[in-house]
Amino acid sequence: MQFADLHLHTAFSDGTYSPEELAAQASRLGFSAVALTDHDTVEGCARTDAACRTAGLEFIPGVELTAEQDGAEIHILGYLMDTSNARFLGEVAEFQAVRQNRIREMVSRLNRLDIPLDVEAVLAIANCNSPGRPHVARALVKGGHCGTMDEAFERFLKKNRPAWVPKFKMSTETAMELIHHAGGVAVMAHPGLNRSDEVIPALVEAGMDGIECFHTKHTNAMSEYYLEIAEQHHLLVTGGSDCHGMSKGKPVMGGVRLPMIHVEKLKARAAERRAAANRVGKSS
Ligand SMILES: [Zn+2]
Ligand SMILES: [Zn+2]
Repeated sequence: MQFADLHLHTAFSDGTYSPEELAAQASRLGFSAVALTDHDTVEGCARTDAACRTAGLEFIPGVELTAEQDGAEIHILGYLMDTSNARFLGEVAEFQAVRQNRIREMVSRLNRLDIPLDVEAVLAIANCNSPGRPHVARALVKGGHCGTMDEAFERFLKKNRPAWVPKFKMSTETAMELIHHAGGVAVMAHPGLNRSDEVIPALVEAGMDGIECFHTKHTNAMSEYYLEIAEQHHLLVTGGSDCHGMSKGKPVMGGVRLPMIHVEKLKARAAERRAAANRVGKSS
């Protein structure tokens, strides 16, 4: 049987793997296909595509957009978009600017707490256009202000802690429309982590294509439950590890193995979405 991991991060967002390390690891673990789903960026896709080609893996371009529905943070995975689509890239760039400003605000809050962290040092550690809280945590550890990343989150960065800054998010509708506009397929990420199943019917109504039934942090019971939801709403089934690299105690690649039949269905839906996006493109 052949398997895929459709939820992976690299150092182009808050992961630690380079595209080459990601491809090598997936190949060692015997995967046939992988998707890259970095937060609010597709910059890693070209290099990961090349690395997968070298490793003999099928590559699925993707993204994980941070969105909001009725006050709940919902992550929307996009797959098989045209990663050179101008409007898609323009809007994603705006969200990257939002992320960078949020880092600046978090650092200035830390400075007010007498933690002499330098924003340029944090951005240098991030070394990407889509920085996030883990990068601030790494800088706090590196500067000797915290012993571990977990301590950094616990003391400063978690929601409602002193250096936490609320994040502006696009609506789930905007996120899915953007993915569809670029000819991609929109999937709700790790519903078992969100505990906001009440938003699912509205997402389906707005054109959501699939739901991530399998995820490292889903129990078997959760996966079963979301498989039922998928069947009820005629949604595609996806799954992935959500691996961010080799961090101790965090999800690692290999724990979730999605049968390739789901990848075939995903590709078939993407072909339909692409045809629809082209029709709209021609008529407007
Ligand atoms: Zn997520
Ligand atoms: Zn993720």
